[in-house]
Amino acid sequence: MAFVVTDNCIRCKYTDCVEVCPVDCFYEGPNFLAINPEECIDCALCEPECPANAILSEDELSKDQEVFVLLNQDLSQIWPNIKKKKAGLPDATQWDGVVNKLEYLES
Ligand code: SF4
Ligand code: SF4
Repeated sequence: MAFVVTDNCIRCKYTDCVEVCPVDCFYEGPNFLAINPEECIDCALCEPECPANAILSEDELSKDQEVFVLLNQDLSQIWPNIKKKKAGLPDATQWDGVVNKLEYLES
């Protein structure tokens, strides 16, 4: 069981989560982060750090969020690793809490 980055990270990408991950298993795309489920050790440290509450354990996902399991798995294979926090996207606060952002995910 791994932790999963979900919908509300899209177009926010604050990156607070990467600072606390002991195994550096976050990968960065243009407007979303993905967790590599094979590297995640399920420590739960990142979940409370996310200002957008976008990180959930796989067993906490709603039906609508289940699509993010495969997305995290696939995107973490193609995106570069990120270990250090950087500034969130410029319009992150406007997008925080907007529902159904999947159509805006850039890969
Ligand atoms: S802290 Fe949350 S919103 Fe920010 S990059 Fe990590 S998962 Fe995405
Ligand atoms: S649960 Fe732990 S190991 Fe997994 S992504 Fe979060 S901080 Fe990293």
